[in-house]
Amino acid sequence: MKKNVFVDPAVALRYLFAGRAEITVTSNRTGSSYQWRIVIPSKYWNDPVPQCFFIWSGDIYLGVIAGGRFFPKKTSQETKAFSWVLTSLLNGRMAGYTLRHSGNCGRCGYPLIALESHYTGLGADCNNKMRG
Ligand SMILES: [Zn+2]
Repeated sequence: MKKNVFVDPAVALRYLFAGRAEITVTSNRTGSSYQWRIVIPSKYWNDPVPQCFFIWSGDIYLGVIAGGRFFPKKTSQETKAFSWVLTSLLNGRMAGYTLRHSGNCGRCGYPLIALESHYTGLGADCNNKMRG
């Protein structure tokens, strides 16, 4: 198992929607990569099942996920790539790219230590607090 690399689309999606996700997606074909942050806006942070997520690339705002759909601020190569990756994960597929998390918990941001946490991208406490 490679460190911080997701192998299960469902596990990756759980991390993606944890609130403070930081992912790196690398194309297996071209080797090019993107880094994205998927965050729950603070006003929705305490929702039992948050439905709204902002997508950032560095300081650049890419768009919002609402109701499971991605709405890009404007169409670009990068928002197309994000949309493609999200759709593939929602369809239970992870082919053609490698998806890594940052090594910090996707919910609280603390550095991950346990081996199981490197698989999920979530610390044990945060993993238990999350529904589903
Ligand atoms: Zn945590």
